[in-house]
Amino acid sequence: MDFKSKPRVRIAIAGGGIAGLACAKALLNRGAAVTVYEAGAAGQGALWASGGMLAGGFECAEANASPAFAELARRGMALWSDWAEDLGAARIGYRVGGVISPASDFAGLDWLDVLAERAGQLDIPYRRLRRLPECVRARSAIEFPEDGELDNRLLGPRLAAFVREAGGHILERTNVTVLATDGDRVRVETNEASHNFDAVILATGVAGQALQPAEPALSAIRPVKGQMLSLQGPGEQLAFCLRARNAYVSQKTDGRFVIGATSETGKSDTHVDDTAISALRRNAETWLPGLEGREVTESWAGIRPGTPDNLPILGAGALPGVYLALGLYRNGVLLAPAVGELMADAILSGTAPPVDFGAARFFQR
Ligand SMILES: Cc1cc2nc3c(=O)[nH]c(=O)nc-3n(C[C@H](O)[C@H](O)[C@H](O)COP(=O)(O)OP(=O)(O)OC[C@H]3O[C@@H](n4cnc5c(N)ncnc54)[C@H](O)[C@@H]3O)c2cc1C
Repeated sequence: MDFKSKPRVRIAIAGGGIAGLACAKALLNRGAAVTVYEAGAAGQGALWASGGMLAGGFECAEANASPAFAELARRGMALWSDWAEDLGAARIGYRVGGVISPASDFAGLDWLDVLAERAGQLDIPYRRLRRLPECVRARSAIEFPEDGELDNRLLGPRLAAFVREAGGHILERTNVTVLATDGDRVRVETNEASHNFDAVILATGVAGQALQPAEPALSAIRPVKGQMLSLQGPGEQLAFCLRARNAYVSQKTDGRFVIGATSETGKSDTHVDDTAISALRRNAETWLPGLEGREVTESWAGIRPGTPDNLPILGAGALPGVYLALGLYRNGVLLAPAVGELMADAILSGTAPPVDFGAARFFQR
């Protein structure tokens, strides 16, 4: 569908997690009228549970990213500096302090070589550290200096407020139950009412299964549980995120050290297991001995919306006028600004996102 000639396109978004709110932000900026339907509270979902890292360099090197994914991550990183201006960097704890990946044993040192080689191939800025920061205990390390982080617990409410201030409607505790074609529009039925829109974006994370009759691509979404903990701050101020093979640590601006994360494919419960939390803590302490003895302030679990090939599902859905912003997996915070722009391009200009992200890779359309 191409709405270029339409004066004000009316768009509904099912899901007010970071993907849905990012789409809302981009569409409002281009003059669309936007309504976000959120089953729970906006700006929570997996964002609330996440590590808040914007680690595009590290993630692409670690995952040996395809060119399309590396470009999406690069665009996400670049747009984050605009978002930080829009939302207020200090208000969301945004900073670019780099990621440091440490290693001590042979396997770890080999891993650093692989990261460096892939970063070189993907043209990702990195450097081998000759001197490690004093707080890190390791034999060697690589730095991805352009990676950053934010406080995801601050970002969620701030982004929802921004969308409202920009004229978006966010209807919380409103579950989209049915999607159907109605002439050249899409009918959205909720537990409250039914309305027609020019286009609808599905940004339902792992929870949109009820809408599968309208959108088969939802069946490709698989949950990947992640458990995390935080330790008491303030104290040692970590200017960077630490990304080791067995744990990561990001210190938020209120002093909390956030440590993650397990990766449990197929699990969608949010039960926290003491053994997993203790292992994460021990691993983090081996790299950052300054963490020893600190009180655990919280432990929690969240669910990443994964896909069989770990790539997002972006672009047109099965019904005319329905679009998909799904499967952001373990990088939804990083990717959200770029996903919002791609979805706005797809709906308002008819420019499809890269074919690598199309639902057709799982389903013949
Ligand atoms: C432990 C953990 C650590 C992570 N760390 C990072 C990190 O450091 N950096 C990073 O970039 N990413 C990270 N991620 C990934 C990131 O959090 C996710 O990719 C991202 O939050 C997914 O956002 P989403 O909006 O697609 O889905 P969700 O957050 O799941 O949001 C979907 C929303 O849709 C709503 N919804 C569902 N169905 C309906 C319906 N029918 N009607 C109305 N509303 C509906 C849900 O209530 C929910 O609020 C992490 C994730 C986890 C779990």
